[in-house]
Formats: sequence, structure tokens, C-alpha cells
Amino acid sequence: MKRSVRAELETLEKMLQLYCRAAHGGRPLCAGCRELLEYSAERLRLCPQHPKPACKDCPVHCYSPAMRERVREVMRYAGPRLALRRPLLALRHLLGF
Ligand SMILES: [Zn+2]
Repeated sequence: MKRSVRAELETLEKMLQLYCRAAHGGRPLCAGCRELLEYSAERLRLCPQHPKPACKDCPVHCYSPAMRERVREVMRYAGPRLALRRPLLALRHLLGF
């Protein structure tokens, strides 16, 4: 896995932990949020595009609509609460949200 992708995943994991604690009482993650993190990791790992474009510019659209909506919800909650503006922008660019 590329170093930049790993950094994006760490950002996503932090946001999921923040969201899950508030929404599901997860410590650190409930089963559903862990599934979402693993799903995202798998999508990034399997991305056939090299170099990887932002997902919104990608012709593959590998996220299922339901999973994509779940990630959006996490970002809506956790984005403004994390002092991680730059990594968040990078993640947004990557995922295209
Ligand atoms: Zn959760």
C-alpha cells in the first residue's frame, strides 16, 4: 500500500472513532464502523487506477452507493470536529466527497 493511501486511511480511522463513539458508543469502533473502515481500505487497496485519481474523477466508482453514503455521514459529523484540516482536505480529494 502506498504511503499516501495509508495516511488517508489513518485520517478516516480517526474520524470513524470520533463518530462511532458519539453515534454508537464504539470503543473504539462498533462492528458496523469497523466494517466500513475495512471496506474503505479494501477499495483503496484494490483501486486499479495508477496513479490514483480523486474518486469523483475516477471512472470505476468502486464504492457502493450505500457505503459511500455512510462515509459521507461520518465525514459530515467528524470533519468539523477534527483539527486535521489538511489531512481532511487530502482525504476529500482522494475520495471525492
Ligand atoms: Zn459505529
